[in-house]
Amino acid sequence: MQMPEPDAGVIGRRRELIAALRAIVPGEGVIADNAELGAYESDGLTAYRQRPLVVVLPETVAQVSAVLAYCHAHGVKVVPRGAGTSLSGGALPLADGVLLGLSKFNRILDLDYDNRCAVVQPGVTNLAITNAVSHRGFYYAPDPSSQIACSIGGNVAENSGGVHCLKYGMTTNNLLGVELVLMTGEVVRLGGKHLDPAALDLLGVICGSEGLLGVVTEVTVRILQSPETQRALLLGFREVEAAGACVAQVIAEGIIPAAMEMMDRPAIHAAEAFVNVGYPLDVDALLIVELDGPPAEVDHLIEVVRGIGVACGACTVQLSNSEAERKAFWAGRKAAFPAVGRISPDYYCMDGTIPRRALPQVLQRIRELSESYGLGVANVFHAGDGNLHPMVLYDANIPGQLEEAEAFGSDILTLCVEVGGVLTGEHGVGVEKRDLMEVQFGPADLEQQQRLKCAFDDQGLLNPGKVFPQLCRCAELGRMHIHRGQVRFPELDRF
Ligand SMILES: Cc1cc2nc3c(=O)[nH]c(=O)nc-3n(C[C@H](O)[C@H](O)[C@H](O)COP(=O)(O)OP(=O)(O)OC[C@H]3O[C@@H](n4cnc5c(N)ncnc54)[C@H](O)[C@@H]3O)c2cc1C
Repeated sequence: MQMPEPDAGVIGRRRELIAALRAIVPGEGVIADNAELGAYESDGLTAYRQRPLVVVLPETVAQVSAVLAYCHAHGVKVVPRGAGTSLSGGALPLADGVLLGLSKFNRILDLDYDNRCAVVQPGVTNLAITNAVSHRGFYYAPDPSSQIACSIGGNVAENSGGVHCLKYGMTTNNLLGVELVLMTGEVVRLGGKHLDPAALDLLGVICGSEGLLGVVTEVTVRILQSPETQRALLLGFREVEAAGACVAQVIAEGIIPAAMEMMDRPAIHAAEAFVNVGYPLDVDALLIVELDGPPAEVDHLIEVVRGIGVACGACTVQLSNSEAERKAFWAGRKAAFPAVGRISPDYYCMDGTIPRRALPQVLQRIRELSESYGLGVANVFHAGDGNLHPMVLYDANIPGQLEEAEAFGSDILTLCVEVGGVLTGEHGVGVEKRDLMEVQFGPADLEQQQRLKCAFDDQGLLNPGKVFPQLCRCAELGRMHIHRGQVRFPELDRF
């Protein structure tokens, strides 16, 4: 994975930059000490590391605006960062860039039950929103497994999902408004407590824009009333195909469970060894299906789902009869990532989305790839929405294994696109899938996406090197044609 060549001129002006940033953010808000910068050198994709030129931790919107305006005027790149849990390297710093941390934006500004929304600063964690409203019987629905740590600003930037997004939607379906600071320092507001956008729906553009279009400084999200009851069903299958058929059949019956998750044999074994919740160990696939709503409806639907599971060949069926049992069913799935971390020195978590019916075919092909690469793989899967998370097991201390794991991961994502899916379900493109964008998008698609980027950030200073497969400066866009193999503007950096 290659990043753009650092700008030696900017690195040479580091002292001047630090002094200017300290004038904007006084006190301890600017981190320039080399040892302290080490804490910021990677995000959740720890395979890639880079110390930032300097870290700045503003506390007010005025400071964010002034930092961006200064960097814009002096041609300095900026990488926004929330909690640093991105699994696609979205918050990977740049050697010649400012890392702009939003961790001090951690206040809940307004809990508005009449309008069923919460207004929060971007550094507030996902779970803190639910915790703030749960005493009134409300919650915030999108629930990434990282919800205890990840920030809502990061969730907006990545359009994050979680196990309950099948029924309640991803971040974009629960986002009502943002305050955004553009690279020029201009502060804009998009959406708000009202339901419909006043003009073009730019909020949808910002959600999932991976820190490339602006820095989110305030977020308004929908809050929902907590369901009266939740019950879960554990269905074990001897064959993955049967589990896949069960998922399709449940949806075809018109039932949208609150969650429908699948784990394959290696993931089941790793999770059970970690949390000991009584998962069956003699099955190839385990489905956790959760129904929520009024008790009578839930009791009825859970029997319908049980019937579908048995008809599809489930060999073990367990029903949660208490909240403790329901939580135990989930404990293994929620701990699947750390559990897999115990069985392999390193793992590389992929994130692709496929049409549900392609699941057996894709899992079979992943098994074949696993054999040909000689690397293990464990799969957890948001089965209801077709979002795969294969974890490729490798050892970074063995020379060449990281590269093998990356190649294996690329093959999996290419496969997802080949069967009619997409490169990412919820983790974003970042640097991880950047060079695969051309598998999914043609040159015209990529050029239009780049034009949108230019409309927000005409110098390409905000989070460069992420998402787009090649460096393409806005000024030259539209003139970058390769004719008979002759590249125009050969002096421009490409990577
Ligand atoms: C164990 C584990 C489990 C996970 N499970 C899930 C899961 O179930 N579902 C899921 O979707 N993700 C999951 N993730 C991935 C990650 O938690 C999400 O992508 C999360 O939204 C990132 O939030 P963050 O605050 O850590 O953002 P960061 O990692 O700091 O940044 C992520 C991206 O957002 C940008 N960004 C951050 N803050 C802002 C801002 N205020 N304005 C503009 N841009 C900003 C950054 O530039 C970067 O591109 C998991 C990660 C881990 C480590």
